[in-house]
Amino acid sequence: MKKLTLLAAVLLLFIGCKSSDNKINYNVEKFYDLEILRYDVPDFQSLTLQQKTLIYYLSEAALQGRDILFDQNCRYNLAIRRLLEEVYQTYPDKQDQQFLLMEKYLKRVWFSNGIHHHYNEDKFLPEFSRNWFAQAVQLINADTLKEIEGTEGLERIMDVMFDPDILPKKTNQADGVDLLLTSAGNYYRNLTQKEAEDWYAAHKDNSEEPIWVGLNSQLAKDDDGNIVERTYKVGGLYGEALQKVVYWLEKALEVAENDKQKEVIGKLIEYNNTGDLKTFNEYAIAWVQDLDSRVDFINGFTEVYGDPLGITGAWEAMVNFKNLEATKRTEILAQNTQWFEDNSPTAKEYKKEQVKGVSAKVINAAILGGDSYPSTPIGINLPNANWIRKEYGSKSVTIQNITEAYDKAAQGNGFNEEFMLSDKEIAMNRKYGALTDNCHTDLHECLGHGSGKLLPGVTKDDLKEHGSTIEEARADLFGLYYIADPKMVELGIMPDKEAYQAEYYRQMMNGAMTQLVRIEPGKDLEEAHMRNRQLIANWVLAHVNEANPEVEIIAVPVAKGNPEDDVPAEIKHYMRINDYEGLRRLYGQLLAIIQQITSTGDYALAKELVETYAVRIDPELHKEMLRRYEKLNLAPYKGFLNPVYTPVTDKEGNITDIRIDYTEGYAEQHMRYSKDYSPLPTWN
Ligand code: ZN
Repeated sequence: MKKLTLLAAVLLLFIGCKSSDNKINYNVEKFYDLEILRYDVPDFQSLTLQQKTLIYYLSEAALQGRDILFDQNCRYNLAIRRLLEEVYQTYPDKQDQQFLLMEKYLKRVWFSNGIHHHYNEDKFLPEFSRNWFAQAVQLINADTLKEIEGTEGLERIMDVMFDPDILPKKTNQADGVDLLLTSAGNYYRNLTQKEAEDWYAAHKDNSEEPIWVGLNSQLAKDDDGNIVERTYKVGGLYGEALQKVVYWLEKALEVAENDKQKEVIGKLIEYNNTGDLKTFNEYAIAWVQDLDSRVDFINGFTEVYGDPLGITGAWEAMVNFKNLEATKRTEILAQNTQWFEDNSPTAKEYKKEQVKGVSAKVINAAILGGDSYPSTPIGINLPNANWIRKEYGSKSVTIQNITEAYDKAAQGNGFNEEFMLSDKEIAMNRKYGALTDNCHTDLHECLGHGSGKLLPGVTKDDLKEHGSTIEEARADLFGLYYIADPKMVELGIMPDKEAYQAEYYRQMMNGAMTQLVRIEPGKDLEEAHMRNRQLIANWVLAHVNEANPEVEIIAVPVAKGNPEDDVPAEIKHYMRINDYEGLRRLYGQLLAIIQQITSTGDYALAKELVETYAVRIDPELHKEMLRRYEKLNLAPYKGFLNPVYTPVTDKEGNITDIRIDYTEGYAEQHMRYSKDYSPLPTWN
């Protein structure tokens, strides 16, 4: 669920926004397909000293785990990062072309927490030569080099860097091959998929309140061929880093806001010390119930997308605090949950008689770490254990300052001007785009996923490989249907009856056209959230009233051709929405169908919808989108720099304030992190 919002974030880059803060440089730098942005932390100064101190301690705990994710992504990552950083510091000629290419590669390694693309999972190759690098490495201090090489040796490490055939994919999801043997991730060592699956089957907890076996461990085969579980804990795998995490959590415990939060932090310390998954469950339950604290955080092994078998968590951290003003919005939604359920266009037998409230709040991120850094989600919905969600509920948050940073960074980048039909749509987006996007995310997260019910005997797994696409489409459509409802104006969430049109225009344009800029020529759509958006947009386009289409894609000649020289006229395609209310009706119809598929577990219909509307791309339209996008010179993926927190102390060493600073550069930040927050040995 979280991954959706992460993707949504990338698509936010074209929203205009009026407000701007001249003090902060939001756009830091660009390289390859990546752009580094900065976020600010509004209201930090208005927090109490205790809250600020708590954030500072928790942010230290968040940064101490950085090495863990590098090692989880691939066991060569720490060695490669450390080699590159040593060369970065010691190489004398900083203007050397080869050096500059290495610097660019290193920046990408930092961004991806390793040598595989953070999003498409493919290994990226250096543009500098292996010969040059082999010589540059010789300038490193001999003992340091020896430590980094370990028993693997420099040649082998360079093979991993330069040979495209070695460890080409981080997390392989392809059918018909051994997913563990073909994935570079370090969640398994020398194990076949079958061996790991058998092990999990034998150790599965089938109790009512199961522990998540494998969440915090690596499975490895020892020299005698026995499978051993190497648990992530103090004294175990990654113990050096987790010990530091615990150190800062203990400090945080002293300044916790209340007893509930103390319980949360205390349980997390205990869990890190013991690796006991029962304690993890207790921690997760306490965390879900901690609703009154202003400050909140995630710190540990969380999302399982990086493990090809979807079991072990990638290390992730985020410290945040409630945005009081914006949280009012989601609280209003939560108070009216049942009204939304009762009035949705789905069939009565698929509605919940009683919807359990989802705790929803809007937060500002204060620090990002591990799997949330530098590329970060704009929403979070945790915990992942189904039984805890069912018994105790879940926390769903929208991260407002990250969304705003995207908006600010996108100001005037030319995207809307290029792809929107006219000044009317551009102006509408400037006025309402940021607000309606936040509202849609709120509706999606707070209400959409929790709505509807499954008929007896039906499970979410019935839709198999199409399950996530259908589920995300359901949540998106719920949000789209309701963002246009007069109730939203009545509740004071939307300013007027027309504002929703900004979201409708953007969703249609993005789903059918502009999201294609992130796909390589010749490829199909694979990712579930992109599929969901295309499914919705293309279904609508296929179901419009032919005589009077509510929505259409129109071709506009923008430059005359020259028939004599065989130059065709240039045509650009645009989304045109003729009837916004009609579009809402279509969204409602599709929501009813998607809810029926979910409630009845109709795999055949799910497959038909996905295959007809969500997968295939019109190659001509795709080419046109890429061509137009390329001219704008924008980076499709964004990541963030963290602010720097520095405690101010009096003569006795007591903290009197926490200073926040936004001036650190990208390389500067990563080199500092590698120096101050790098407790793991190179080989683990
Ligand atoms: Zn979702």
